[in-house]
Amino acid sequence: MLRLLASLFEFVLVVLVGRLLGSAAERLWGVARTRGGFRPGNSPADSPRPTVEGRMARDPVCGTFVSTKLSHRLDRGGETLHFCSRDCRERYEKTNVLAV
Ligand SMILES: [Zn+2]
Repeated sequence: MLRLLASLFEFVLVVLVGRLLGSAAERLWGVARTRGGFRPGNSPADSPRPTVEGRMARDPVCGTFVSTKLSHRLDRGGETLHFCSRDCRERYEKTNVLAV
């Protein structure tokens, strides 16, 4: 009887150790996979998104493309218009007034 219990205990121990080793190996394997592979959405700095300085807007008066940071801006109805010069902006404002 004692022998049976001992062998049973041994069996349980072996199963437990086996499971532990299995889960440990699984965890290690999983870590290795996540480390080695690509990480989706984990590096926003790598994605080539246009910066504010890099954005170009078209001057509606003369058609010149100007940087939104260097342009002469005019806020109109929630949208921002960009002009290459104050001259163009004033001309647009004048025509806009005439149109309205
Ligand atoms: Zn212009």
